[in-house]
Amino acid sequence: MPPGGRFGPGFLSEEEKQNRPKVTKALLRRIFSYLKPYWKQLLLVLTAILCSAILTLMPSVLTGKIIDEGLIARNMKALVIFILLSFGVTLAANLIGILESYLNTWIAQHITFDMRNAMYSHLQKMSQRFFTTNNQGDIITRMTSDISGVQQIITSTLTNIISNVITLTVALVIMFRENWILALVGIVIIPLFTIPTRSAGKTRWSITKESQACSDEINGILNETLSVSGQLLVKLFCKEQAEYERYETVNRRMIQLNIRESMAGRWFRMALSTFANVGPMLIYLVGGIIMMQLDPTVTVGQISVLVALLGKMYGPVNQLLNIQVDWIRSMAMFTRIFEYYDMPVEIENAPDAITPDHADGEVEFRQVRFCYDPEREILRNISFKLEKGRCIAIVGPSGSGKSTLINLIPRLYDVIDGEVLFDGTDVRKLDLAFLRRNIGIVSQETYLFNGTIRENLLYAKPDATEEELIEACRQANIYDFISKQETGLDTVVGNRGLKLSGGEKQRISIARILLKDPALMIFDEATSALDSISEQKIQDAIEPLIATRTSILIAHRLSTVLAADEILVIQDGEIAERGTHSELVGRGGVYTQLYETQFSKAAAAPAAAPDYSEGEAQ
Ligand code: ATP
Repeated sequence: MPPGGRFGPGFLSEEEKQNRPKVTKALLRRIFSYLKPYWKQLLLVLTAILCSAILTLMPSVLTGKIIDEGLIARNMKALVIFILLSFGVTLAANLIGILESYLNTWIAQHITFDMRNAMYSHLQKMSQRFFTTNNQGDIITRMTSDISGVQQIITSTLTNIISNVITLTVALVIMFRENWILALVGIVIIPLFTIPTRSAGKTRWSITKESQACSDEINGILNETLSVSGQLLVKLFCKEQAEYERYETVNRRMIQLNIRESMAGRWFRMALSTFANVGPMLIYLVGGIIMMQLDPTVTVGQISVLVALLGKMYGPVNQLLNIQVDWIRSMAMFTRIFEYYDMPVEIENAPDAITPDHADGEVEFRQVRFCYDPEREILRNISFKLEKGRCIAIVGPSGSGKSTLINLIPRLYDVIDGEVLFDGTDVRKLDLAFLRRNIGIVSQETYLFNGTIRENLLYAKPDATEEELIEACRQANIYDFISKQETGLDTVVGNRGLKLSGGEKQRISIARILLKDPALMIFDEATSALDSISEQKIQDAIEPLIATRTSILIAHRLSTVLAADEILVIQDGEIAERGTHSELVGRGGVYTQLYETQFSKAAAAPAAAPDYSEGEAQ
């Protein structure tokens, strides 16, 4: 949350108060470590702030000279000189101000650039567990709003503190030098200035809090009803009018709150101008008494200087009073960002990781045990071996742990006990990039980026030629579809590939894997029913694939099972049975049940389950 952002300046929300970050030396040191590379520019900014703060106060001091030495002394030359000087000083202060804001923005942008890159590269190293456990919105917020907040801290909070402290100090020194009694009067009335700001701030804060809740609700409605699946639901349940009314109600509440908020600002401005007048009047009064009755050496010019300087102190005092809130918010933001930086990288390359010359894609599980949470074991006692060129099918009831087992091979997770070997070496000892380069997974939920078919294919092999792309699409049985499209390979697949059917998406992802050309192919067959023609096309695409390379299939269809050399039946995280289809089918165990409930249905549909004999499959 940006400083002064969500609930307006001056006040912390209950949530913010409760989660007040602990500002430790270590935290500050860490924050300053980001500033360190830019110390030269920072030094320049500091000098600019100092100069512009002093120069901004100069016209107030010159006012005294204009009155005393120009107007009262009736000296035209002095009058013009001081007026010109005052103008020149203001111009210089503003020019320095421009330089200051340029430098500020430059530094802030560079620091956020560094932080964003560091965060992005750190997040990319995070394990699958991190992404499944953490809310995606939260990850994005930290990457975007929180880091943008840091930018605001540097461009506003930090410079405000420095420039306000300098302005106040310089103003006070000049005031005391001009006349200490009047300076004291000025200090006494300063707190008066802050009353309207704080009370208007309070009202605004409560309205802002309400309108924030309102805007969250609006966003919620928009997110829910304007998403692809949300719209579908609304349409199919004919809820357009109901949703419109829900939206309109909240929208109306929002405008009322906005009007109230803007009026709170109006009262605030009125109170401010009234109070701002009280200070000068008091100084004129006390100054007049001193000048007329106590000390005739006090001049009108001196009194005017004090009034002018007092006016210049109002802003900095208020800003400094609010800065504590900005400060706490900034620290909270840094703490949130550092929390992510500090999360250990769970899956890392071993320091002495091995990168073999080539891969056969052989896999062996030895007594593997795995759980996502310590309380619940997902896989236990898993041992099997897949030799080069062979194909294993994994079957089992939904939720039995099939996908989990697969995830252990490319090290999306690491085993708790036991070992997973790739070409005879523990995967934890292999170079991660080597391992993942040699494994291709066609997962159940095919993910395509929003782009063209070509872009999605080139993701696997950026330097693939047109011929290679076409050949891969041919083999994946998707080329017919592509060539029928007006724009061919340049057809846009839409948001997450939603413009394509499930079967088309899966065939494109098969083409993508073909281009990657991995030693080990893993195919996680979609559980969702595809029509028999699509299914046949996919089947035809993977058949030659598995015939030529080492592969693992998570199978939901008989045709796929029949194509494998060995079937592993997983139940409750264990290998309950293993063997070929003909060995298992008559055994009366889990496989028989699966066959009767799931596979035989598929077998009944002739196009979906072609008559592969085991011999053919091998
Ligand atoms: P299906 O055939 O339906 O895809 P599956 O056999 O592939 O199922 P898995 O996805 O491996 O099953 O899931 C096994 C168990 O692990 C399930 O009970 C599931 O709830 C749990 N599980 C899966 N992923 C996670 C995760 N990221 N965190 C915690 N538990 C998980």
